[in-house]
Amino acid sequence: MAFTLRQSAAAALLSALLCSICPNSLAAAGGDIQLMADALDELPRTLPEGARLPCEGGTPVLVRYHGEHLRYQKPLRVHPLFRARLPGFELIVSQLAKQHYGRVPRRIVHLGAYSCRRMRRYPTWVSEHALGNAIDIAGFDFGPLPRAGRSAGDAPSPSGLAPALRRAFEVRLQRHWNATGAGAAHSAFLRDLARALIARPDLFSVVLGPAWPGHHNHFHLDHAPYRVVEVF
Ligand SMILES: [Zn+2]
Repeated sequence: MAFTLRQSAAAALLSALLCSICPNSLAAAGGDIQLMADALDELPRTLPEGARLPCEGGTPVLVRYHGEHLRYQKPLRVHPLFRARLPGFELIVSQLAKQHYGRVPRRIVHLGAYSCRRMRRYPTWVSEHALGNAIDIAGFDFGPLPRAGRSAGDAPSPSGLAPALRRAFEVRLQRHWNATGAGAAHSAFLRDLARALIARPDLFSVVLGPAWPGHHNHFHLDHAPYRVVEVF
């Protein structure tokens, strides 16, 4: 089900989309690609050489978002349609965090959402960040494990939780994606999270992580009208 594109295949897919973003061109690119209807899908993703980005002519409609089930360490600026996807992301994080650590994180740490720019590796392509349709997740901050029953939202402590995981700690892709020893628990959490996000193309059609160039320290999540997964 999960459709994974290697980097060269992703470039081929992007090329296949140059004429227009439509089901036929996606089908021609091959693979198990799901199209998810979204008004943002209608916006052009490619630019003639030297053309200005649409957001350079005026900021798109954006909303500020602090988080519904979990808080972000600083407010996001995102398109309203992308904002509507984020509670689902927060619930996935919450569920896995309870399983791994016995409580939800205090903060989601991100590297940004809206940003008026092109794709770094494909400069004739509009970055989903330029539409407010993407977020970069760097990690999570956890507080100390609450005493049982003190916080209604927290699950019972997982049996065998190491003392270090009962105190406050940080989880970061940069430090923990490949961590062993004391950090192995964080690596397991991040990898379970990646698998859970990949399994939800209805939330995010594009999931990039450490296996994609330039993404050693964050998950890039967006809802472009094409599917690209490159994390592991
Ligand atoms: Zn990104």
